[in-house]
Amino acid sequence: RIVYLNGQWLPEDEAKVSIFDRGYTFADAIYEVTAVIGGKLLDYPGHVTRLKRSLEAIGIPMPVGENELLDLHHEIVAKNGVDEGLIYLQVSRGAEDRNFLYSEDLKPTFSMFTQAFPVLANPKVESGITVVSMPDGRWVNRQIKTVQLLYSSLAKMEAKKQGADDVIFVEDGFITEASSANFHIITRAGVLVTRHLSNALLHGITRGSVLGLAGKADLQFEERAFSVEEALDAAEAFVTSATNFVMPVVSIDGKAIGSGRPGASTLKLREIYIADKLAHAIG
Ligand code: PMP
Repeated sequence: RIVYLNGQWLPEDEAKVSIFDRGYTFADAIYEVTAVIGGKLLDYPGHVTRLKRSLEAIGIPMPVGENELLDLHHEIVAKNGVDEGLIYLQVSRGAEDRNFLYSEDLKPTFSMFTQAFPVLANPKVESGITVVSMPDGRWVNRQIKTVQLLYSSLAKMEAKKQGADDVIFVEDGFITEASSANFHIITRAGVLVTRHLSNALLHGITRGSVLGLAGKADLQFEERAFSVEEALDAAEAFVTSATNFVMPVVSIDGKAIGSGRPGASTLKLREIYIADKLAHAIG
């Protein structure tokens, strides 16, 4: 692969970052993931808006201007011949001697790489995914997309040990989200319920897009917190993320949701989402 690092295009094994980089020593970095289909970028404006918001929240400057950022996205797709997959970008505060207090004028470290894989033909859509519930032990500012992902990574490993595909986090009796996706239910009355935005969860770009398209799937939606018990009583459940789109969830803690199979409205929403995103993809 050809990767991007601080203004340079390099073969992946030649891209080097300092061991003093604060992304490495303090997880002091922001990231974004954008899906690519047919070489085009999905939901790109949303990802850039969130990148700016995350950087601003922890006081890291945007490393390049917006026009250049879009050009870099197009260039990295072209240089790597990516048809389907993702673009990962990361901006850390920069490198200096390890110290909890950082210099305000550090030069951010900005890197980008691609990962090619079949995004559309995801075999998990057929079966749906299974999840287990666990306490949400992450820090409280989950609306900021930082690379502090250890808790989520350990939790997903634990879910795998228990034979599940993913984890859903629970705080004060209510579900926050999955390890790297937002979690939603469709009630027996046909209402899409998704947790309201706050610092308890990442404000998923796919979540926002899906809510905008709910009407097309004949679904009303409500934004409020809900419990594992309410989710188990729902007709359908699904998660959303940039590379999984709308993914059916068929059980929680070994107990089936609805029929225990991917729900019809969920699958319809997935189709509607994909069609809409392809129609608006930037390339
Ligand atoms: N929540 C978390 C914790 C995530 O890591 C992600 C994926 N980045 C999401 C939700 C989904 O966000 P998006 O739809 O923007 O990919």
